[in-house]
Amino acid sequence: MRQGLVSFLLFGLLLVGMACTPESKTRVIAHRGYWQTEGSAQNSIRSLERADEIGVYGAEFDVHYTADNVLVVYHDNDIQGKNIQTSNYEELKDLRLNNGETLPTLESYLKRACDLEVRLVFELKSHATPERNREAARASVEMIKRMGLEKRTDYISFNLDACKEFIRLCPDASVAYLNGELDPDALKEMGFTGLDYHYNVLREHPEWVEKCKALGLTTNVWTVNEPELIQEMADMGIDFITTDIPEEAREIVNTQTR
Ligand code: MG
Repeated sequence: MRQGLVSFLLFGLLLVGMACTPESKTRVIAHRGYWQTEGSAQNSIRSLERADEIGVYGAEFDVHYTADNVLVVYHDNDIQGKNIQTSNYEELKDLRLNNGETLPTLESYLKRACDLEVRLVFELKSHATPERNREAARASVEMIKRMGLEKRTDYISFNLDACKEFIRLCPDASVAYLNGELDPDALKEMGFTGLDYHYNVLREHPEWVEKCKALGLTTNVWTVNEPELIQEMADMGIDFITTDIPEEAREIVNTQTR
């Protein structure tokens, strides 16, 4: 009898404890992979591996389409004086990143991703024309599907033509807009699954966080590199924080008080 009572009380305490434990809801995305670590570089295959090793939610990376239709992973428009989108791959293929890796093709990057678990946050950069943006989006989706990575890939872009093509081709995928000028209602109407805005946009419109939740949209902010700001965003209830300091960010969101 007494044992039953003790069990009952312990069970009750457990329930109360679970209810009071602050549950972290904010997840961390390594911006351009985890690159501020030994042997790594922005958008390198090593940065993808390191993001996976530290166990963050996702690795964000940037993709351009060359003049002869090869998708490559790089942030800037130019690499060592060559414009990626107006160059043929042959002109780019031997160029090296800061860590000594050669410029990764999307294919080589994704092949490595197939052996890892980190989520892929695929940013398609803007291209010269609406049609070129759509072509680049179609080629991107085709490769993701060929690699069997469609369930592990979220798409983001500043370019609306690219985003609309992702939404059309991948109705089950997450597609978020980066540019900041569209409100949650407009995004929902267009078929987006979320927003991925500069943190100042959500500081100006804190009500968008609740609005997104009500509409079933996700919220993501970039690029949040100061501990106080990471805490502020986590306390606002933002779903994802994209950062260049993923290990520190994870510590902060794991202890968030919200
Ligand atoms: Mg990016």
